[in-house]
Amino acid sequence: MSMTASPAAGRSFPMCARSHKSSNVARRARMGVRSNLLSFAPILIDLQRDCATPLPLLRHVADSMTADMRAGLVVDGGSDLKMILTYVDNLPTGNEKGIFYALDLGGTNFRVLRVQLGGKEERVVATEFDQVSIPQEFMFGTSEALFDFIASGLAKFVQKEGGKFHLPNGRTREIGFTFSFPVKQTSIDSGILIKWTKGFAVSGTAGKDVVSCLNEAMQRQGTDMRVSALVNDTVGTLAGARYWDDDVMVAVILGTGTNACYIERVDSIPKLQGQKSTSGRTIVNTEWGAFSNGLPLSKFDRQMDADSINPGEQIFEKTISGMYLGEIVRRVLVNMAEAADLFGEHASTKLSMPFILGTPHISAMQQDSSKHLEAVGSILYDVVGVDSNVNARKIVWEVCDTIAKRGGRLAGAGIVGILQKMEEDSKGTIYGKRTVVAMDGGLYEHYPHYRKYLQDAVNELLGSEVSKNIVIEHSKDGSGIGAALLAATNSKYEH
Ligand code: ADP
Ligand code: MG
Repeated sequence: MSMTASPAAGRSFPMCARSHKSSNVARRARMGVRSNLLSFAPILIDLQRDCATPLPLLRHVADSMTADMRAGLVVDGGSDLKMILTYVDNLPTGNEKGIFYALDLGGTNFRVLRVQLGGKEERVVATEFDQVSIPQEFMFGTSEALFDFIASGLAKFVQKEGGKFHLPNGRTREIGFTFSFPVKQTSIDSGILIKWTKGFAVSGTAGKDVVSCLNEAMQRQGTDMRVSALVNDTVGTLAGARYWDDDVMVAVILGTGTNACYIERVDSIPKLQGQKSTSGRTIVNTEWGAFSNGLPLSKFDRQMDADSINPGEQIFEKTISGMYLGEIVRRVLVNMAEAADLFGEHASTKLSMPFILGTPHISAMQQDSSKHLEAVGSILYDVVGVDSNVNARKIVWEVCDTIAKRGGRLAGAGIVGILQKMEEDSKGTIYGKRTVVAMDGGLYEHYPHYRKYLQDAVNELLGSEVSKNIVIEHSKDGSGIGAALLAATNSKYEH
């Protein structure tokens, strides 16, 4: 793999000063106007060198992921990876029947879902869902106020139950609760909130069992419901995908943040200490966003990390997930604009605003394959307020490609780290047979280049013989149904 500024397929890179335009640039440079092409090339070359992911580096990352997983399974705090026990020991089988609910709280919206399950033959008979945005006041209020708001939304949704949905007489409705904040899980249906994140600052929840908070609020609302499974979104995705396909062993979220979980053998978890699982297996939530070993980082990554609300933490997440890719690109462009007039001499105040350039923008720019990169030009103009010539746009395209390529390839190496850990522990579990990795999240779903780079890395690391059996598959919104399925699997009623 080239470690220098290499032309992308079918795209000529304007670095050698031969064309008519380039000689104008050289003339302008001689005339005392700072040359752009000549002066921002070194910034791009340095970036591509610092962010390069040649195969030996990917192999090191995959091996370190495997080693960190093992260390985290021995003892809490044993490595960057928390390797959280989820208490999900039984996965959906397809035999589940009845009506189940799911509640997803993980950001500025909460989603509620009901599903009527019809067993092996009928599977998912019907689903309905609703989404409610959480007003700011509840994100900064008391725990009771937030959970009352959620419980009342849930109660309204339950009132609309009808049609194909039937609750047998005398039964309490059961919910799978997807809660995507850091929780110390204590059983399948309880977990202590460690801290709020993602802009929530609710008083009185940290240190409490979030399931009790919700159950109490439902009682206050007079709703007869019970939380029978508390899960995080990766676990919901794994359960949802597994319902349709027995070969699913791993689930990965690549959205605003990133995380992965997988099915582990209980006898491979020293820190479990005597806790039993009837199936001999359990899902482990890796919290792999905290991984940091051997990652190729540039000065732009280090600056972004230093300026973040959690410096030194979540380095893998900051290198591969949707919240950050656009911001890294923006930081590179600021440097190119300041040091080398990438967008001419007019400074843009918008370009200097952190997070103004989102990952959806860099994904859209990368998908522009037109000769003059008009879409790149209009995004740069609309989003960060700069004019650009075609050469500048090509440079921007290369920067987006460099950051997406590194992210996708490292995510692929992380997946291989998990697969090889499972294979090492028990030969034949993964290699030589079909194995599915269920993927979800807006970044994976909407960024085709990133997806391809991820797949390339998996193929390169595993070789064609093994990788042809590894299916990396998008499981759209599987996590909601997955949570409802886990409510069914852990139902207090016979099923
Ligand atoms: P969350 O991770 O917050 O639960 P999603 O899974 O929907 O939500 O992912 C949203 C994230 O996906 C956004 O923050 C963004 O980084 C990324 N994303 C959304 N749309 C695109 C796109 N078109 N191209 C690339 N990334 C995208
Ligand atoms: Mg999500």
